[in-house]
Amino acid sequence: VPKLTIKDLHVAVEGKEILKGVNLEVKGGEIHAIMGPNGTGKSTLASALMGHPKYEVTSGTVTLDDQDLLEMAVDERARAGLFLAMQYPSEISGVTNSDFLRSAINAKRGEGNEISLMKFIRELDKKMELLEMDESFATRYLNEGFSGGEKKRNEILQMLMLQPRIAILDEIDSGLDIDALKVVAKGVNSMRSPEFGCLIITHYQRLLNYIKPDFVHVFMQGRIVKSGGPELAERLEAEGYDWVKEELGIED
Ligand code: ADP
Ligand code: MG
Ligand code: MG
Repeated sequence: VPKLTIKDLHVAVEGKEILKGVNLEVKGGEIHAIMGPNGTGKSTLASALMGHPKYEVTSGTVTLDDQDLLEMAVDERARAGLFLAMQYPSEISGVTNSDFLRSAINAKRGEGNEISLMKFIRELDKKMELLEMDESFATRYLNEGFSGGEKKRNEILQMLMLQPRIAILDEIDSGLDIDALKVVAKGVNSMRSPEFGCLIITHYQRLLNYIKPDFVHVFMQGRIVKSGGPELAERLEAEGYDWVKEELGIED
């Protein structure tokens, strides 16, 4: 069973401290949601976990199972089973979706253990059907001319194809209409198993109507300030964040 453990994580961007002591444990079988006001460092957490070079870990530890994640290169993190859906996925011209997916899978599986073309196509068909994606999607160039909703759906397709052990989904719901939101949720829910843990970062409670989190965390001022169950997300949706600030004596 996978286990991601973040202890007292501090991260700086361009010399400025953004994360100020994040503590969190995500285990297989669990779905966690992080909610919080804009600009509080949620995406910084995602980027730091994935090893983005701009995000400097100044102190604290992150382990995946018992391995030091912070010592691993980006591709090693992916091979160890970490998946990050980017808030703003980039276009890579000249690479089709299907090529990209196959090389990502093979990079993860390692040399000499590549997936057969037949098996790849079979898997891809199955997952695309689940996500109600048009067949033409596979041969389109990665993210080129994709709508916001198509990009998000595509990220979930990547997750389903890569079968990570821990996934971090940052604002996977932003800009989605209800139908797309339901499909994205269906994809995430289809991954639910003791072998899979998920951290969903979102500004809105909406997505959590379709993906029931086991734990909800409130993120403010660079750290998790409060944790609870799904009822916490509902209260945040209804009442906003002010009551949390008051309760904890946090000033803007
Ligand atoms: P959230 O995802 O909660 O909205 P972010 O993690 O995106 O918040 O941003 C937190 C703070 O860190 C903001 O003040 C933002 O300007 C700063 N920040 C994040 N990433 C960068 C970056 N690449 N360069 C400069 N500042 C950044
Ligand atoms: Mg933001
Ligand atoms: Mg963000």
